[in-house]
Amino acid sequence: MENRRNIGRMKRKLMFGVTLMMALVILLLVRLAVIMLVESEYYGQRAKELHERERPIKAARGRIISEDGTVLASNKTVCTISVVHAQITDPERVIELGMDREKVSKSVNKVSSMERIKTNVTKEVGDAIREYGLDGVKVDEDSRRYYPFGNLASKVIGFTGSDNQGIIGLEVRYEEELAGKAGQILTMTDAGGIELKEEGESRIEPVNGDDLIISLDYNIQTYAQQAAYKAYEAKQAKRVSIIVMNPQDGKIYAMVNVPEYNLNAPYTLTEEYSYMTVTEKNDNGEDVTRTISKDELTNEQKMDLLNTMWRNFCINDTYEPGSTFKMITATAALEKGVVSLNDSFYCKGSLTIGGRTIRCHKTAGHGSQTFAETLMNSCNPAFITWGSRVGAEDFFAYMKKLGLLGRTGVDLPGEAGTIIHKLENVGEVELATMSFGQSFQITPLQLLRAASAIINGGTLITPHFAVRTVNEAGETTKVFEYETVENAVSKETGGLMKQLLEKVVSEGGGKRCYIEGYRIGGKTATSQKLPRGSGKYIASFIGFAPADDPQVIAMCIIDEPQGIYYGGTIAAPVIREVFENILPYLGIEQEVVEFSNE
Ligand SMILES: [Zn+2]
Repeated sequence: MENRRNIGRMKRKLMFGVTLMMALVILLLVRLAVIMLVESEYYGQRAKELHERERPIKAARGRIISEDGTVLASNKTVCTISVVHAQITDPERVIELGMDREKVSKSVNKVSSMERIKTNVTKEVGDAIREYGLDGVKVDEDSRRYYPFGNLASKVIGFTGSDNQGIIGLEVRYEEELAGKAGQILTMTDAGGIELKEEGESRIEPVNGDDLIISLDYNIQTYAQQAAYKAYEAKQAKRVSIIVMNPQDGKIYAMVNVPEYNLNAPYTLTEEYSYMTVTEKNDNGEDVTRTISKDELTNEQKMDLLNTMWRNFCINDTYEPGSTFKMITATAALEKGVVSLNDSFYCKGSLTIGGRTIRCHKTAGHGSQTFAETLMNSCNPAFITWGSRVGAEDFFAYMKKLGLLGRTGVDLPGEAGTIIHKLENVGEVELATMSFGQSFQITPLQLLRAASAIINGGTLITPHFAVRTVNEAGETTKVFEYETVENAVSKETGGLMKQLLEKVVSEGGGKRCYIEGYRIGGKTATSQKLPRGSGKYIASFIGFAPADDPQVIAMCIIDEPQGIYYGGTIAAPVIREVFENILPYLGIEQEVVEFSNE
């Protein structure tokens, strides 16, 4: 009995031992399989790392500099601190470098070829660490993009990503010129990670990016941005844009889109974009609007807001220009010879066309007007008449000649194009509304280019920023050239238009842009936003000086102003303020005012 019991116990012990061994073997096999199948790449990589160490040398990104010499986008040196385990002789002192002690300690004790312990350290701290001369500690310098003026021209300049690559604006448009080419250092090490000095190191030098010189003028941009913010606040507007350009060659001196954002923190939503209003259906199927605060936004919603915050409304969006477009209609009518300065038009406050009554903004009517006065008064019925004399086909042909059916070719990404009826669908009513700038959409920059062609002697220019690139040695490496098309408008018509538009400012709807001693031309507009009847408006003004020989053209667009919303009342003074500052700066002298005896 005793024996049989012992045998039974031994059997059970044996069985237990065999089972345990089998389990262990299976575990080992599984682990081996994982190593072979899954981790082999990792171990292979590590084995190689132990023999060859490759460190990239980043190329310095070229700067963006205004033609007046102001650096608008620059680089700041930052350091990355790394430790090489095998080379550390005094681990305690390395750990005491004073950064995140726990993290550093872990990195120091980790057997690996190289561990980064801190990035984005200032150059001062990096230099100080290098001074200690600790074995196994490496300080690598790197450069990060830095914008000295924060939000100045943010929607033009754009910004770069984590690898210093351009993401938006001029930064991405001129990536090729600015980026340069990275170099590398290749060092050989033994299996313990010690650099093999006798093998030497091979080094491929980086090629730094070129500096980009742009036409944007620091002072003009600053003046324009200040004027835009002033109007933005005074009118509690949704946004305010200003473009200042040379109408002769298309050099853009300023492009403002207020509110701007901080280029040094482009992923931080500014106050204006820190919430979102959404319309949702409630349980009864009714639309309910709800405001979502910054903290409740989903990632997708935050990205939508960022994209809106980054938008450049001068080129990324289209709008109905309204009455500033009357300068195009007047030009077309003069070019075709269907009106003369002696023509007169009687406005009784409205005009019925194609069975539809279109009212003049002066409901009592303008009465009898000369052609010049119809432009000064911005009389809708008169312009419907001038437009119908041109006819739909030629109306489109003149729009095309003035570049209004295509993109301007400005050197910024994401330029929007014209939204317009197909010519075959344009009836009397469509042509009538187009004649005073409605029922089609263009970008502000498209209109400014067309206006430039009218006043510069007939040349359709390409609005642009990039002027040239310069290498580290200060040599010009590239001069940018832009397409121009001659004879978009005859000199005769252009000359007449300059006179007529000067009268708009000296005596007509644009008189709030008048500056004593200066000859200024211009046109106002007040457009109703779509859908019509929403009570939302866009007030705008285009002005140029000197009226007889224009050296500068500027445009102001106030989107959704509160209270008074007329372009002549609120947008024209913004351009006057800009001109008062920049005309003397551009060397445009006040002319001697001649007093007549009358
Ligand atoms: Zn009228």
